[in-house]
Amino acid sequence: MKLEKIMADLEKKHPGEVEYLQAVHEVLESIEEIYNDNPQFEAAGIIERIVEPDRVLTFKVPWVDDSGKVHVNLGYRVQFNNAIGPYKGGLRFHPSVNLSILKFLGFEQIFKNSLTTLPMGGGKGGSDFDPKGKSNAEVMRFCQSFMLELWHIIGPETDVPAGDIGVGGREIGFLYGMYKKLAREHTGVLTGKGRNWGGSILRPEATGYGAVYFAAEMLKLKGETFNGKIVALSGFGNVAWGAARKATELGGKVVTISGPDGYIYDPNGLTAEKIDFMLDLRASNQDIVLPYSYKFPGSEFHAGKRPWEVKCDVAIPCATQNELGKQDAENLVRNGVSYVAEGANMPTTPEAVTVFQDAKVMFGPGKAVNAGGVATSGLEMTQNTMKLSWTAEEVDQRLHQIMKDIHSQCVQYGTQEDGYINYVKGANVAGFLKVAGAMLDCGVV
Ligand code: NDP
Repeated sequence: MKLEKIMADLEKKHPGEVEYLQAVHEVLESIEEIYNDNPQFEAAGIIERIVEPDRVLTFKVPWVDDSGKVHVNLGYRVQFNNAIGPYKGGLRFHPSVNLSILKFLGFEQIFKNSLTTLPMGGGKGGSDFDPKGKSNAEVMRFCQSFMLELWHIIGPETDVPAGDIGVGGREIGFLYGMYKKLAREHTGVLTGKGRNWGGSILRPEATGYGAVYFAAEMLKLKGETFNGKIVALSGFGNVAWGAARKATELGGKVVTISGPDGYIYDPNGLTAEKIDFMLDLRASNQDIVLPYSYKFPGSEFHAGKRPWEVKCDVAIPCATQNELGKQDAENLVRNGVSYVAEGANMPTTPEAVTVFQDAKVMFGPGKAVNAGGVATSGLEMTQNTMKLSWTAEEVDQRLHQIMKDIHSQCVQYGTQEDGYINYVKGANVAGFLKVAGAMLDCGVV
């Protein structure tokens, strides 16, 4: 494989798609050795085929606000690769959404889904629509208009979207309602559904729980547990609150949460009561960070800053891509961090990953650490097919086992001669081998 030549060609074909090119570079760099050792991959053009999505649908989404004004947003679905199962990946509604971001997320999803051990291909979609500040009726009209286009290309055996940033239970409900009306069927075409209409218990907290289960496996390798560990988290969305709850349950002391405006440092640590307070604020669409600092004395709000300047043993970035840069990584290393587990997708810049790896900090990449979300979506698909619903204990037990299996795959393919585990390499190689094997078996399609 001529990595630099492949990247140069891709940059020519897709100029300016920074996030997509960054994600492809990271994967290709890790699999270079295994690719070159297996000439059948090159003969079958695996790289050339895996880096391009099978197809991309873009469409306009017209909708009317409460005052009668017409708005037009852009909608996308990137169906990246279905070598091992139907396309599967979330929908993101956020003003920053563009094709590069969705292609990066869809590409990552191929390997993440492969790692889960479940039969799911990779996809991603979304819109530049911002649900923040919109009324329920506006969000409903937007979701219905979005689904009027999307439904043509999805289906329970074809492509099964889910939530992501800006798409939670409310949005999935409106999207599902419209799909059901158009398709005239009640099937598992979306995951993250409500409990009473086909959803899986534990899906909302699954990504955060899974991230902590993965981190606990990293700790175990060094004979440690979460008990007494200082944990720094970023964000306070779907992923972060689940991670906060599970880390706290396991005895960790979570001392930060954050938003785009700054972070909260609470030296006393989060408690179940504080987490519930924040969940109530979130549910009523209110800002969390400032009210928290007023309500809980002793906590401090650091405006315009990121949490990576505090002293911690475990860092779990759970907000967004490229939120932890080189300087942040250097601060964390100086302050003695031993474990970094990416709850979000690609929150750590490549330069920051290098800082952690050079310092021999155990670093778990998002595609392994946050795979518990999509894995639980996979369990929801299984329950929908079987027309039954498992208990919280059953789902949690399966999720826990899947996270242990993902961790083992990373160790198997990522352990270096000096004993350091390169989790990035381990996750990429394990995820790639399964997908590439399926692509070989199915011929050039
Ligand atoms: P949410 O929208 O629920 O939460 C995102 C959180 O991050 C919010 O608290 C948000 O604050 C905060 N945030 C956004 N931008 C910044 C920023 N620049 N700096 C600091 N904080 C910021 O999203 P999710 O929790 O669902 O997703 C978070 C990440 O995890 C994404 O990368 C997503 O792709 C990934 N992921 C999510 C999964 C899931 O199951 N939800 C599964 C796997 C990965 P505010 O609300 O104030 O904007």
